[in-house]
Amino acid sequence: MRHQHSRRAFLSGALALPGFQFPSLAQAVQSQTTPYSRPKLKITDVRTAQVRGHGLQLHVRIYTDKGIFGHGEGTDAVVGGAPIVRSFRNFLMGQDPLNVDRLFERIRTAGIFAGAQGGQYVAALTAVETALWDLAGKATGLPIYQLLGGKMRDRIRLYCDSQTEDPKDPEAPKKMGQVRDMGFTAVKIDVDDGRDPNRWDAMNWTASNAEIDTMVSKIRFVREFFPKRVDLAVDMHGRYDMTTGKRMAKECEPFHLLYLEEPVPAENVKAMRDIRESTSTPICCGENLFLRHGFREVLEERAADIIMPDLQKCGGLLEGRKIADMAHTYYVPVAPHCVVSPIGTMASAHMCAAIPNFLILEWHWIQRLELWKNFVQEGEIIEKGFITVPDRPGIGVTMNEAAAKKAQVPNTPWFEAGL
Ligand code: MG
Repeated sequence: MRHQHSRRAFLSGALALPGFQFPSLAQAVQSQTTPYSRPKLKITDVRTAQVRGHGLQLHVRIYTDKGIFGHGEGTDAVVGGAPIVRSFRNFLMGQDPLNVDRLFERIRTAGIFAGAQGGQYVAALTAVETALWDLAGKATGLPIYQLLGGKMRDRIRLYCDSQTEDPKDPEAPKKMGQVRDMGFTAVKIDVDDGRDPNRWDAMNWTASNAEIDTMVSKIRFVREFFPKRVDLAVDMHGRYDMTTGKRMAKECEPFHLLYLEEPVPAENVKAMRDIRESTSTPICCGENLFLRHGFREVLEERAADIIMPDLQKCGGLLEGRKIADMAHTYYVPVAPHCVVSPIGTMASAHMCAAIPNFLILEWHWIQRLELWKNFVQEGEIIEKGFITVPDRPGIGVTMNEAAAKKAQVPNTPWFEAGL
């Protein structure tokens, strides 16, 4: 402190001399840096753009008075998200963006009567939170993983959400061959099918024997195509009832899945727990849960073997880290859901790099390879089914505007000011 005071006194004293050419320098030094030269930033604007990739993606940029900006992405629950982000402006403008958790907590708690427990409010806040981390990284010259506690691993293992699982599809071997040749060490398939002709009722989700057979045949078909070292996960999208969920989990046992995902919706935690207790197939859930509060009961009830928060939806990177840490105390690994562009995916990768209990991260863009590869200036970020987390500041990838704009949602802003 002595050093700090004498430095300030020196500056203000020296610069107060008559005739000195830079009278505002002392003020500038004191107001724009700390004694340790951390850049002092102020948020000056918040802008959005919307892209249609795998679903709707809300991109948020937070600008500062020092010319740098942070970029974040939210997804799935972001319909109507842009006006919600605009409603956050009052909490952000003029603030120091490096106080990420404080800004997050202020916005979250301010919205407790406005839906801040989940859904669009939290998904929009997630995009803002990620943009703040990108900004904090750029301001300090550090990659986000460093700000989240440092790196546990250099490379993030991905599974490919496969483009086929239908034994009747003549293109299936070619499509699965592409996934294999890209080097993925895990794949995920969807087995639920609302259009299965063996379904007796359009509204009831008790699967018939023939439906069960069809689902199992898809699993067998994909399992037999890939080498055993490639893990297989199976998604039922939370569509079925308890009896079907239990039966499918049992039918999956011989296949030794990486996991069976949401045989029933995750909103009834005890129902999920009952299925988990009925089977040796690992059960995974949580892509539609929000914040730590959404995962607390899942963990306390031991309802899942694996959880899958979506880091571009559930509250953000630090909230994701907190969820993962909570899960770690129950020895539950984390396999984040992820359907966003390379920007959000790389943001997720930073968080996955920082936690001990990371299992695997989703990649869901094989049907949109052209857009994926051109979306950021750095080009393809996946190599042989892994992402190497970059050491560049912030997220470490930058949007390729021309390519990304091709997927812009019509009649929506593109980071224009004042919207
Ligand atoms: Mg799913």
